[in-house]
Amino acid sequence: MGRPHTAYLDCNASTPCDPEVAAIMVPLLTSTFANPSSRGHGPGQEAAALLDDARSRTARAIGAGAPSEITFTSGATEANNTALVGLAHRLVHRGRHLVAQVTEHPSVLEPLRRLQGQGWEITLLGVAADGRIRLQELQDALTPRTVLLTLMLANNETGALQPVREAAELARAHGVVVHCDAAQGPGKVAVDVAELGVDHLSLSAHKAYGPKGIGVLYSRRQRPPLRPEPLLLGGGQEGGQRSGTPNLPAAVGMARALELARERWWEDGRLMARLRDRLEEHLQEHLDGVTVNGPRDHRLPNTSNISFAGVDGNALLASLRDLAVSSGSACATGSPEPSSVLRAMGVAPALAAASIRVSLGRTTTSDELEWAAERMVAEVRRLRAMGKRGR
Ligand SMILES: *Cc1c(COP(=O)(O)O)cnc(C)c1O
Repeated sequence: MGRPHTAYLDCNASTPCDPEVAAIMVPLLTSTFANPSSRGHGPGQEAAALLDDARSRTARAIGAGAPSEITFTSGATEANNTALVGLAHRLVHRGRHLVAQVTEHPSVLEPLRRLQGQGWEITLLGVAADGRIRLQELQDALTPRTVLLTLMLANNETGALQPVREAAELARAHGVVVHCDAAQGPGKVAVDVAELGVDHLSLSAHKAYGPKGIGVLYSRRQRPPLRPEPLLLGGGQEGGQRSGTPNLPAAVGMARALELARERWWEDGRLMARLRDRLEEHLQEHLDGVTVNGPRDHRLPNTSNISFAGVDGNALLASLRDLAVSSGSACATGSPEPSSVLRAMGVAPALAAASIRVSLGRTTTSDELEWAAERMVAEVRRLRAMGKRGR
């Protein structure tokens, strides 16, 4: 067999929809298309039954106790926004202090920034050089006015796993409500809300071989009930938690994708970790000045964030377009800033700018990765040689 000449190594940004998942969705787009809220006729009732089934299966796939704990959203961004803004409104009478950490996803940090503008006090915990928070710092941050902790399960740029279970235990002992952005978890690590001990949790289907445009906000059933104030108002769908016609095909697809993730994460994770580790070894064997950013052990099995000293990050990324890797830097405006995640871990700006994120998927092959490793070595050598000549 010939060598591949392209690779997709950006699975933390999005994954391909599993063919089985896509096949399940097609008839729901073309035939069983009725509105699940149209309970007055047969097709509507059929759609409603399918939506109920998707909700039950989604609940089971993440270890939730009841289907009513699941709200379907348009993705993890909406789930995070709803959880933070909606819970803040519910909890404001108890206190106005919220704790998060500095490497959260923008869909967590931006709502927090808005709350800050509305008079909330926000404590952003720092991270150690490995990208993980320290529990002592969390302990010290909790005050009698603290009402909410949000902590991501795994970082999208480095794969660093946060100690969510321990942090949740600590926070809840202080009467603090706990939310977790677990968008990077399914298919790579165990995602079980009971095991994690969190009150609210956000997920996204397209990060785990499901369709785009759908996600989950899990809210634990408790007494008295605590559900985020909804952001979307209207017809009262999703038990009043999220108005708008439910995306039935996507919900059914996501339920299956999450079931597959729960069945496969361990085995897929071991395979991805083996390939990923081999890539890191290859780079470190053939190049000087290679560092891997993130924890050695407490890391997603598919993610590698690698810095190459002495190369220009943009030039490297441009020369590796055929690998579909992503920059460590958040480059939204075209003027690349070194990644704030790496900066928070103490990586120097120039090195942070010379970093790439490689994220594997369950379809990544060893041929693909060997080819990618060789391409990276060749390009880094070429860019370093050019840099020397330019001096
Ligand atoms: C991708 C991602 C999100 C956003 O998910 P969408 O469904 O694309 O809105 C949120 N948090 C993390 C950690 C992510 O990786």
